[in-house]
Amino acid sequence: MLNFEFKNPTKIIFGKGQIEKLGNEIPENAKVMMLYGGGSIKTNGIYEQVKNALSGFEVVEFSGIPANPEYEILMDALKIIKEKNITYMLAVGGGSVIDGVKFLSAAALYTGDTPWDILKNAIKTEKGLPFGTVLTLPATGSEMNSGAVITRKETQEKLAMGGPGLFPEFSILDPEVVKSIPERQLANGVADAYTHVLEQYMTYPIGALLQDRFSESILQTLIEIAPKIMKDPADYDAAANFMWSCTMALNGLIQKGVPTDWAVHAMGHELTALFGIDHARTLAVIAPSHYHYNFEAKKEKLAQYGKRVWNIQSGSTEEIAKAAIEKTVDFFHSLGIDTKLSDYTSAYEGTAEKVSERFTERGWLGLGEHKTLAPADAEKIVKMSY
Ligand code: NAP
Ligand code: FE
Repeated sequence: MLNFEFKNPTKIIFGKGQIEKLGNEIPENAKVMMLYGGGSIKTNGIYEQVKNALSGFEVVEFSGIPANPEYEILMDALKIIKEKNITYMLAVGGGSVIDGVKFLSAAALYTGDTPWDILKNAIKTEKGLPFGTVLTLPATGSEMNSGAVITRKETQEKLAMGGPGLFPEFSILDPEVVKSIPERQLANGVADAYTHVLEQYMTYPIGALLQDRFSESILQTLIEIAPKIMKDPADYDAAANFMWSCTMALNGLIQKGVPTDWAVHAMGHELTALFGIDHARTLAVIAPSHYHYNFEAKKEKLAQYGKRVWNIQSGSTEEIAKAAIEKTVDFFHSLGIDTKLSDYTSAYEGTAEKVSERFTERGWLGLGEHKTLAPADAEKIVKMSY
């Protein structure tokens, strides 16, 4: 096991009716900016619950943060934060709104030339403007981690940022919000969380026994609840298990002491930046090719996953490992998620070369858990996923 330090300061308030506790978590006299997306919270009752809980605070609203939060729009929010001397932010939404607020948290206190530097130069934020979240969509784990991904339309870029100063102070997780989530987003949530676990688990060497079993239990729980949640998102128990699995998949716990991959996300982000494909779906496109391409290095772990998660008991290591990749593809299909780039766009020719060029330009010369995947390898993997 590798050495590690672990600190996760986010307070989780989980359960039915917990949004009303919001006011207790925000400092008295705070000047609050409440940020949300395109308006789903106005039709499912979450907006009223949040506004009631915030009565007594001075609140400025900022709406319209789109899926794949955009730098240009966030810069409009930043202007208001500065003009109105906002001291606290509340993100009400899924990963896009929460990530957008993390960018603002960093940008509000950034003293350099332009906040784009934070993304371009991968600046780690040690201290940000404080914020909390009300999660409306289980998927990303952003509600309990310190990372964010921001898109810039102008240059078709999607870049990650983070730092110890960007954990939410608190996050309210009420599984009742799940009942209004459309099927497409439910499927995305399951697939994103599932791939988050794979990125931290499907690595080599093997040796972190407890982390492996944490990961396998999250994968098994997602497999168990996925059909239930897709059939009936108002099933509270399924929703609660879904929500907590997504949070646990990316709150730092399962990544401690192990090498982590994240190459699937790096390549997937390019597909969102270039074609606007939903984040989770880009992962379902890239992951199978990634595991086939890196089969020799990952086959022992793939076989462990096949045996323990999918209960494939007969066959050689290679056979079980291959069957495990197929099971993963079938699982994405069971969610209604296509796994080839050509299922999403007919303009896929040249994508692999473009991804490789971009990685080279950015100096991303070694991806994967041992930094051994060169841009030329990414090119081959993306091409395999056409
Ligand atoms: P999202 O982009 O936040 O939301 C997707 C859609 O779901 C929005 O159109 C939203 O509508 C709708 N929605 C949200 N809650 C709803 C509800 N309760 N009922 C009905 N509709 C609802 O989706 P996401 O998958 O959570 O986030 C994706 C983003 O997170 C991507 O940019 C991805 O790269 C990033 N990400 C971040 C991390 C991280 O650790 N920080 C990890 C993985 C991915 P409205 O806009 O109308 O509200
Ligand atoms: Fe993700």
